[in-house]
This record gives sequence, structure tokens and C-alpha cells, in this order.
Amino acid sequence: MSPHVLIFPLPMQGPVNCMLKLAELICISGISVTVLNTDHIHRTLLRHTNVLSRFSRYPNFRFQTISDGLPDDHPRSGKRVLDLFEGMKNVTEPVFREMMVSGCFSSKSDFPVTVIIPDGSFAFALDVAEEIQVPLIYFETVSPCALWTYLCLPNLIGAGEVPFDGNDLDIIIKGVPGTETFLRRRDLPSFCRFNNVANPVTEIIMKEARYVPRAHGVILNTFQALDELVLVPMRTLCPNIYCIGPIHTLFKSHLASETKATTQTPQSNVSNSLWEENITCLSWLDMQVTRSVVHVSIGSMATMTVDQFFEFWHGLVNSGKPFLWVQRLGSVIGEYNDDQVPKHLVDETKLRGFITTWVPQEAVLAHSAIGGFLTHSGWNSTIESVMEGVPMICWPQNVDQQVNSRFVSEVWKIGIDIKDTCDRFIIEKAVKEVIDVRRSEFIESLRILAELGDQSVAEDGSSVVDLNRLIKSISSL
Ligand code: UDP
Repeated sequence: MSPHVLIFPLPMQGPVNCMLKLAELICISGISVTVLNTDHIHRTLLRHTNVLSRFSRYPNFRFQTISDGLPDDHPRSGKRVLDLFEGMKNVTEPVFREMMVSGCFSSKSDFPVTVIIPDGSFAFALDVAEEIQVPLIYFETVSPCALWTYLCLPNLIGAGEVPFDGNDLDIIIKGVPGTETFLRRRDLPSFCRFNNVANPVTEIIMKEARYVPRAHGVILNTFQALDELVLVPMRTLCPNIYCIGPIHTLFKSHLASETKATTQTPQSNVSNSLWEENITCLSWLDMQVTRSVVHVSIGSMATMTVDQFFEFWHGLVNSGKPFLWVQRLGSVIGEYNDDQVPKHLVDETKLRGFITTWVPQEAVLAHSAIGGFLTHSGWNSTIESVMEGVPMICWPQNVDQQVNSRFVSEVWKIGIDIKDTCDRFIIEKAVKEVIDVRRSEFIESLRILAELGDQSVAEDGSSVVDLNRLIKSISSL
């Protein structure tokens, strides 16, 4: 039977972006790949990207779609992201099982799937894979440091360390090997706090902790040298780990060498963006001083209240630094009138700010004018910032973000963690620190990490070796 991989991303920007890149890397090796996206994600990609024509150059590639159970105009973000999990449970899971057991991907079809690579949070996919006896390799698009805390959750709960109430959040957590000196309660994912344990995300992640070690292997978007601290203990639970990150860098380097080898024209636009990118921000950046601008974005799912929005705005303006602020539609919860906005905020923003709804973030972070990144600490944003040498101010909210921000400030020492606060004075001070006061300290740590990241995707680098091992393993399974 010829190898045929089914890649099934979580229907969100970060996972879709990474897993399409993995799909393309596997396609380049000649293996057949089907990407299973939700109808909503597929339609959105068609609207904003050229994925169809991009992938049409691979005869061994195809897209397939599945319902997420929600109407197309549902926002699928903020608190309403919970509807997405509900829809997936009620609609996607049974349809997926049907597809795999007797439908278009089963052993009875003329093009059966031989390996399944779903998002790490899809426990149901492993149940199906075991039922039909097809090997499954999880792609964990969250950070390895957060995944490690997920894997430790059963022990943390058994030891009574989790859940905890909102007091004494600075108590050090003992049950996550490798992090005993610096990981505090407040750095664990927010569902570990008592008031959040009933959240459906908790159930998904608890299941993930039990299911991931049962898979044939786990793919991580990191490079060996960045996450050694957690990879060593993680291998005791999951021995077969493929570290193929930073996947965006590995992908770029593969495309470059492919172009060189075949003298093809380089692919000019490889965006997997679910929103229309405003590229005029790059011309605005061209006019700014080197390393002077703070880029501000809370990613594709996180939200802020109107009060937090005004704290951000005052803090940015008071810092006196230019800022590029992505205000994704629907990311501010609540309403305000224009007459509530102090005139000096508007005037200063006209002078030094650029506000838009979505940008080509990799290109923005790579721009020489960017000096800092005020981020929600999503894993993709974090690793993109590492590779471009941009110090971070971390304002995390959910899932892996709280852990990531602690690693940014305490392990890698490449930024400031302002979690659990949202105050204009703290934001002003943090912006000044990353752009001016502590800039050289952060830049030096970043330089070392980015260099190690580049080495990992160079010939015989650790991520290239792991990608080749993955491809070999897919071919032989
Ligand atoms: N992103 C982008 N443009 C934006 C904001 C974000 O292209 O204006 C991309 C960013 O480069 C990253 C992804 O969206 O690859 C966000 O993923 P992350 O894991 O950082 O956060 P999430 O959105 O999953 O919370």
C-alpha cells in the first residue's frame, strides 16, 4: 500500500498555518497527503490566500473538508470558541469516525489512509485510529513547555497541587520536573485555577495528557536546543518525539533549496492567513527608525475588555514609542463611544501609531524597524519572535500562553512577563525596557537562540534530521 497521510488541524489560525506547512514539506518528499480542514476554515483560506493554486503543483496532494457543526457566520473566537468545541464533539467527531471506518479514507476505499497526523488535542482521532489499526502521530502545535505541564497534570492533581484558588499564585509548583525552581501557580494554564476547572477546555486537555503518550509519535514545533529542559523528561513518557521546528523557518529553507535545485520561480506568496493581511503596514515600518517600533497583537483567538483596551492604549502612547497595533475584529469585548477617548490618545496615535485588523506577522517581525513585541504569547508568535530576535512583553491569557511567558522571562531571558496585570504604567515601563533599557541584554540572548534555530534547519541540523526521520517513518508504517 503506498503511503497516504491524513493531516487534520485544529480549526484555528496557528495550527492551520503550521500543519499546512508540514503538509507541503511531506508532499515535497513525494508522499501523498490529504489535509482535512473544516468547511469554515477551507472557505476562509480560499477567500484570503492562494492555497488552491499553491498546492495544485503537487499531484500527490488534496484537500478534504468536514463540518464543525456551526453556521458560517459564527465568530468562533473569544468565549464563543466553546461553541466550536461543542460543535466538533457533536458533529465533527462522528463524521470523522464514519469517514475513517467506512467512508472515503477507510481500507475499503481506493486511496486508504496509512498514517493519521491530527492536532494534539484530538483525542477522538486516536480512538478511531486504534479501532481501524492505522498508526497515528500527533502534531502538538502548543509549546513543548506547556505540553509538558499538561502531561504532568495527572500527577499534579494526584499530589493536590492542582487545582488551586486565585490566592497565593506565587507559590512554586513542584510536580513539573525540570521547572521546580521557577514555575509558579500563576504560570500554569488558567484552567488549573479553581474557578476555571469546569471549563470544557479542561476536559480536552486532561484527555490530551492521557492520549498523547499512547500515540506512535509526537511532532513538536520547536528545535532541540530551545526546549532541552522539557524534552529530556518528556521523552520518558513519549519516547518518539520529532522536533521539526521552527516549522516556518524549516519551511522557508526547504522552499529556497527546492527553488535552487529545480530553477523554479520561487513561490511569492505562501500565506495561510485566515484574515486579509494589510501589507501597507510594511511601508509604514519602512519610514520608522531601526528597532524603535513595538508590535502589538493578541493573536487570532484572545480578547480584551474595553478597560484593558484603554490601559494598552494609554501605556503605548505614554511610552513615547511608535507602535503597530493589530486590533482584530471582535477582539475587544464591550463598547465605547468616541467621546470617551481622550483627545491626546487620538492625536498621538496619528503621529506615532499604525492600527489595523491583521498583518503579515512573520514579515512584520522580520522588519528592521521592530524593536519589541507586546504579545499574548501564543506559541507561533513566540517562536516567530525568537527567530527574528525581537524581545517580548508577554500578556498571556489561555492554554499554553501562561507557561510560554514564564519561559520567555525566566528560562530564555528574552522578554518581560506582565501576566495577571493590565495597567498603563506597567505597559509603558515594559515598552521602554524592551526598546531601550534592557534591549542589549535581551538581544544577546535572542541572538544565541536564533542562531541555534538557524543551525537546526540547516543541512544535517537537528530539525532537518527529525523531519527526514518522520518522512522515513511515514513511508514504512
Ligand atoms: N498572525 C498573523 N497576523 C496577525 C496576527 C497573527 O499572521 O496580525 C499569525 C502569527 O504570525 C501566528 C498566528 O497568527 O503564526 C497566531 O498563532 P499563535 O500561536 O501565536 O496564537 P493564537 O492565534 O493561536 O492564539
